[in-house]
Formats: sequence, structure tokens, C-alpha cells
Amino acid sequence: MRDVLPAIIRHLHFQTDVEGLVVVADSDRSVTHTTQHDRVEGGQAGCRVCELRNVHELIRSRLAERVGRASLKVAIGVAVPAVEGWYARGVVPHVNEAAWSRALQSGQFPYTKVSLKKTVYGTRRPSILLEIERAVEAASRLANHIDGLEADFPGGFGALAADLRRWRL
Ligand SMILES: [Zn+2]
Repeated sequence: MRDVLPAIIRHLHFQTDVEGLVVVADSDRSVTHTTQHDRVEGGQAGCRVCELRNVHELIRSRLAERVGRASLKVAIGVAVPAVEGWYARGVVPHVNEAAWSRALQSGQFPYTKVSLKKTVYGTRRPSILLEIERAVEAASRLANHIDGLEADFPGGFGALAADLRRWRL
């Protein structure tokens, strides 16, 4: 994501009328974002939220203003450890950022990216159609529980939610 993001932003900025871009990456086993990183100049090394923000800031600083229209809005989130963690929220107990951060520290993982995929899709290698189907189901359910999703994933989803709230201003 980090490598392709500049090209995506440049394309949307110059070639389209798109108003906003939502970027969500998997954290895998990288550092979980917290609001404490916001106080570190340049963000926290090894954190994908901070890294993606840095990439966005750098490319944005190099782009000329879009004449006659607002700048492209960008919202960045990172799902811990993968987007299936968000989908599992409220369905599988104890899937949240706090549990994952403890697992990273202890090396004892109560669930993994692969086990989450099996839980959500019934297979570790879902088709794109099945991924879309489950994503739509999860989004429909989670739309009524945004506060809970943000409470359970305050770093990676919280960052996304904060960016999106600024879009309304
Ligand atoms: Zn961070």
C-alpha cells in the first residue's frame, strides 16, 4: 500500500473528480497505532498508520492545488491484524486491538490473520465474490455499532474515523 499510494493519489488528484479516498491496510504484525504516536514528530517508526500518513503528507505537499475544486480528501486506517478483525467484531469475543497488542508482546496469539479468515469466510482462500459478500454483511451490521468498533479498535479504526469526521468540516 505504501508503495502504490503516491500513484493512486496523483491519479485521483489530476485525472478525476473524486473528492475522497479511504485507505485501509492490514497491520499484520506491525506496531499498533495509538494516539500517543500523534505526539511523535514524523510518527512512530514501524506503525503503518503513521507511515501511510507520512506518504500522504509528502505527496500532498508536492501536488499543485486543483483549480476550481477542493483538494482530494484522504482518510487512513489500519485494521488489526487484518480487516477480518473488524468484521469479526461483536461476533467473535476478544478480537480487538488490546488483545492483539498483548499477543504481539507475549508471542502468544489467541487468533491469527489466517484463523480470522477461516472464521469470517469459512476458508483461508476466499473468492473475491465471497470477500465482497462478507464485507457487505459486516459493514451493514457494524454501521449500527460504530462506537463499539472504535472502542475495540481505537488506534487503527479510530484514526480512520477521526479523518472521516474532518471531511464533514
Ligand atoms: Zn502510529
